[in-house]
Amino acid sequence: MKVRLQKFLAMAGIASRRACETLILDGRVQVNGKIVKELGIKVDPDVDEVRVDGEICRIKMKPVYIIMNKPKGVLTTVKDPFGRPTIIDLLAGVKERVFPVGRLDKDTEGLLIITNDGELSYKLTHPKHQIDKTYIAKVMGVPDEKDIRRLRKGIFLEDGKTAPAKVRILKKGKNFAVLEIIIHEGRKRQVRRMCEAIGHPVLSLRRTRIGNLTLRGLAPGGWRYMTEEEVNYLK
Ligand code: URA
Repeated sequence: MKVRLQKFLAMAGIASRRACETLILDGRVQVNGKIVKELGIKVDPDVDEVRVDGEICRIKMKPVYIIMNKPKGVLTTVKDPFGRPTIIDLLAGVKERVFPVGRLDKDTEGLLIITNDGELSYKLTHPKHQIDKTYIAKVMGVPDEKDIRRLRKGIFLEDGKTAPAKVRILKKGKNFAVLEIIIHEGRKRQVRRMCEAIGHPVLSLRRTRIGNLTLRGLAPGGWRYMTEEEVNYLK
């Protein structure tokens, strides 16, 4: 996975990213034996040799980007004081210290991003970052058009009104319905609280998409490293 030279240097602990830009502009940085003075170039931490004032730099923390299909019953946390299973227990072979981006409730399954890139995590969880998240919610009873309109327009919860959402009914059963709900906010138990507020509590909940990332090919509990394209899309 290629990263910008100044980011690479910062990750190698040379200096802040800004100070690393100055080092590059001052001609003190070499990539594969050649002085590089442009800020835009990207290097591959596993392939390219980077030196500052002749000293080899190695990245201390290789960026890791994972997409997981979180199963029900597993906590979206790094460590649980009560020893309950967490998403980290599922990541056999991942040596880097990674953490989840946002949360899924214990009983929610579906798409979760896991990384050690604090900058990306900050960006994706910032309220102004409007990335759509798609949920499939099986709810008790069958909401009518008025209920669906309320969800679409935004509904008052105890922490304020929700932003407009895209909502449609995918299936109507005898005493349940399956809804697709697309929101870009990430408040605590938001979908469950929205459905509760219209009188149709959630029976089961699954997140199927974040932006254009999907769960394709991942069974519950499965995970994979993101492709470079997927990472670039999120950044
Ligand atoms: N909304 C919820 O209610 N729960 C989740 O886990 C995610 C979104």
